[in-house]
Order: sequence, then C-alpha cells, then structure tokens
Amino acid sequence: MTVLAVVEHDRGTITSATLGVLTAARNLAKQMNTKFEALTIGANADRLSETIANFGATTVHQAHNSMLTDFGPEAWGESIAQVVRKTSPSVVIGTGTERGHEIIAQAAARLDLPAAMNCLEFDKDFNGSQPLKVVRTRWGGSLMEESQIDAPTKLVTLANHVVEPREELATAPATVSTIDVQLDESVAQSFVQDRVERVAGVTLATSPVVVSGGRGVGSAEAFAPLEELASLLNGVVGCSRAVTNNGWRNHTDQVGQTGTRIAPDIYIACGISGAIQHWVGAMASKNILAINTDAQANIVTKAGYAVIGDLHKVVPAISAEIRRRQNK
Ligand SMILES: Cc1cc2nc3c(=O)[nH]c(=O)nc-3n(C[C@H](O)[C@H](O)[C@H](O)COP(=O)(O)OP(=O)(O)OC[C@H]3O[C@@H](n4cnc5c(N)ncnc54)[C@H](O)[C@@H]3O)c2cc1C
Repeated sequence: MTVLAVVEHDRGTITSATLGVLTAARNLAKQMNTKFEALTIGANADRLSETIANFGATTVHQAHNSMLTDFGPEAWGESIAQVVRKTSPSVVIGTGTERGHEIIAQAAARLDLPAAMNCLEFDKDFNGSQPLKVVRTRWGGSLMEESQIDAPTKLVTLANHVVEPREELATAPATVSTIDVQLDESVAQSFVQDRVERVAGVTLATSPVVVSGGRGVGSAEAFAPLEELASLLNGVVGCSRAVTNNGWRNHTDQVGQTGTRIAPDIYIACGISGAIQHWVGAMASKNILAINTDAQANIVTKAGYAVIGDLHKVVPAISAEIRRRQNK
C-alpha cells in the first residue's frame, strides 16, 4: 500500500507542477502511514532521483525502454500501467497539466480503472483501505465536485498550483529500482520529434509579474503601454481570449481555461472583465490589481487592489511613476 507520484519531465528537466505532486504524495503517504514512491519515465530522467529524494520518496522507479527518448502519451501511459501492475500502489498522483492528464487517462484506460483529474483536496481520513474522497474542479473551475474513487488503485491528477512545493528529506536515501517496460509499435502513435526552443527568459507560466490586457485595450497597437509596464516590472504580458480572438496577440499569451494557468506574485489585469474561464487561469495569483472602468466587473470584485478608470490613462501613469522612482 504505497502512494506513487508520476514525475512529469521534459527530456530530463523536471516540471514545476511535479514538485507540488511530490509534496502532495508525501503528505498523503504520511497520513496513510505508508511510503511514497516516485516514477520517472525514460533513462534521460534517471538523474532526477536526487531531486525526487529531496522530497522524501523512499523509492524511485525508473521505467526504461529504448522508445522512451521523449514524451509520448501512449508510451508513457503504458509505462505507468505496467509499473502499477508490478507495484500495486494504493494511489497514483500525476500532474494537473495537459501532459499529466493525458498520461493518467492513458494509464487508466489500459488498467480499466477510474481516474479523477484536477483534484484540489484528498480526504483527510483516508487510510488506504476505503474509497478515496476527493474535491476537484470541473467545467473549467466553475464548479467544485466531491467525488469518491472506489478502485484497488486510485488514479488522480493534482490541480496545478494547489500544493506549495516543500522539500523534506526521507530518513533513509531513496532506493532506485529500474523497471524495463515492454513497449511495442502500438504505443508509438504520437511522440515529440522536434521542438522550437523558447528564447531565454521568463515565461507567462513562471513570471512573478504578469500585466494582462483584455478587450478594453482596444487594439494590438494599444498593448504598447502594457509592454512598457511589464518591462519596467521585469514581467511579461498576458491577455484574455477576447484579445486572441481579435488577433491582437498570440494564443501563447492567453491566460485562462484554454490558455495558461498562472500564479505570479502580482497580476495586473487591464480592461479584463474576469469571466470564469479567465479567472480559473488567474485565480492562483498572489496579488491582483484590476484596472477597469467598471467597478462591478467580476475581476474588480475579486481583486485585492483596483483602480477604477481608463486603462489608457492609468497604465502610462503607473509607468511614469515607476520611472520617476527609478530615475529613468
Ligand atoms: C469554452 C470557453 C473557454 C474560454 N477560455 C478562455 C480563456 O482561457 N481565457 C479567457 O480570457 N477567456 C476565455 N473564454 C472567454 C471568456 O468567457 C470571456 O469571453 C473573455 O475572457 C472576455 O475577455 P475580456 O475580459 O477581455 O472582455 P470583456 O468581457 O468584454 O471585458 C472587457 C472589460 O474591459 C473593461 N474596459 C473597457 N474599456 C476599458 C478601458 N478603457 N479602461 C479600463 N477598462 C476598460 C470593461 O469594463 C470590461 O470589464 C472562454 C470561453 C469559453 C466558452
């Protein structure tokens, strides 16, 4: 009876979402009075064992096969399924990311087991022998659902940014166990073959400051003052879907259910109403400043700080004040 954390990585680089999963797996294992183990997929992730051990895993299973050179949902899902059959964990926790959801769904289908995605909480009284009650977000965060998973192995993903990563060494070093998984051509349907490297710098998902614009900005050109403010604060620019729909900015800048979920120290939302689909992507922000002409806008009512006014005046005024203080 163990808890197994599935490590999401990109060619051997661990994702930040995984660190929350490792912490959640350790917490759940403690309450169950059992061990927490981790699974890495592909030999290029072998070097992650030390990082994983720093979170308290007692065993790191390393799934190996010559096909596991890069991400492939079917191959990763099949690898998880084989490791679950071999180690019979009580709970398997994956990341609440696109990749995490896809591989846990693949594993669930192959094991013929139920899976619950985007969990926010696990039952505090769960001890491994009863069904697992979870609270999870559904419909893009517009509702919370209480579910119960009744299966020999409970497959779940942890919603992103719900658990703050916290290292905690186990009492003994982690054991490394290599598992040679059997994969054939049937799992080679989709594999990452090539990629375009992002230019160095912070991304929308990781930047501590995000200055976002919505329909209220009015045009692609009118994003220039938001770019300036983001640059003064060493942040990046985001946007709402109204903006990407209008072709003012690329989809890579979109915050929300169908964009990027962010958790910056400060989120500056300019001319954004805060529709639920946008809010689910921004709600993990530690501080929110809303700049809006409408004092009743959803985002204004949720923000810790708000300026009611025309963003075309407010944003340049903030930048001017920052420049004045920085003597620029
Ligand atoms: C399945 C689905 C998925 C979706 N996914 C996403 C998603 O990932 N991300 C997302 O953002 N949306 C998403 N949406 C769309 C979402 O429902 C909203 O339509 C969208 O977020 C609205 O964008 P907005 O706030 O920029 O525009 P609006 O809702 O039109 O709001 C504009 C705001 O600007 C303010 N404003 C206007 N002029 C000014 C000014 N001069 N100064 C200051 N304030 C001003 C207005 O008061 C208003 O509050 C999704 C919708 C669906 C159905």
